[in-house]
Amino acid sequence: MPNSRYKFNPESLSFDRIRLGFREVLMRSLAYLVGSMIVAVVYYLIFAIFFDSPKEKALLREIDQLTLQYDIIQREMGNLEKVIGQLEETDDNLYRTIFEAEPIPATLREGGVGGINRYKDLDGYDNSGIVVETIKRLDAIRKRVVVQSKSFDELIGLAKRKEEMLVSIPAIMPISNKDLKRTASGFGLRVHPFYKIIKFHYGMDFTAPSGTDVYATGNGTVAAVLPSKRGLGNHIILDHGFGYTSIYAHLDRFNVRVGQKVERGDVIGFVGSTGMSLAPHLHYEIKVSNVNVDPANYYFNDLTAAEYERMIEIASKTGQSFD
Ligand SMILES: [Zn+2]
Repeated sequence: MPNSRYKFNPESLSFDRIRLGFREVLMRSLAYLVGSMIVAVVYYLIFAIFFDSPKEKALLREIDQLTLQYDIIQREMGNLEKVIGQLEETDDNLYRTIFEAEPIPATLREGGVGGINRYKDLDGYDNSGIVVETIKRLDAIRKRVVVQSKSFDELIGLAKRKEEMLVSIPAIMPISNKDLKRTASGFGLRVHPFYKIIKFHYGMDFTAPSGTDVYATGNGTVAAVLPSKRGLGNHIILDHGFGYTSIYAHLDRFNVRVGQKVERGDVIGFVGSTGMSLAPHLHYEIKVSNVNVDPANYYFNDLTAAEYERMIEIASKTGQSFD
């Protein structure tokens, strides 16, 4: 830096050399230094703004990668939601219908968490949107899975009960009845064999030789074994649970004891003509919650649709019961 200047002198028409003092030289030097620094800072800022450092470049690449991965996660969640949707639909429209359970309301399946914003910690960053959306969808999926698995637990319980119910409810004929030829008298108003008046017949009669096997018509427990010379004669009452009981009357002999567990098809006694009976026959009753029902409707394990029609026909034609 020059420490001298020249000044034009109009009188001498020449340049006079001007000498600068130390102070002035120092000030000028400082100004030069500061100016250079400012220029340097400006250059630095320009580079920092318009050109990324290698570290920044790496970070940006990482953000791109993460965004891409979030996109993949979102797509996977979309697939998961579809699968859960199908499960829910089958659950409501098929499984829960079979087991006579109410469908689960959509509000329960998709119910939000509500109230406070649980995602506020995640707000305020450049990519908050995608993160919050991902976590919200995950939460919703988790909730739907929990609801669905609870529903399946309930269905398993119902299925087990249904299975037990199916083997317990009376569903076969109480004696072997090939070609339905032993069907003697049905349920309803019949002429009483002894009083010769019209009386309500609460069961179904099957004629068969004395000693013919009598079967338990469903799984259950022997509730009563009652020897008698009047009315129903020697008879057995089975308790099938689920509100069902069955009665086997006019037996010659018993083959079970009170409290014994029986399975459908077990021989519990033998046909006879004890009590008020016209001839050897089995009088069979079914009660649901203590009310007599028509046993003709409870042979679904034995009869085809056509046989059922015939059974109803035969049972309704006979005018007189054997009691
Ligand atoms: Zn009868």
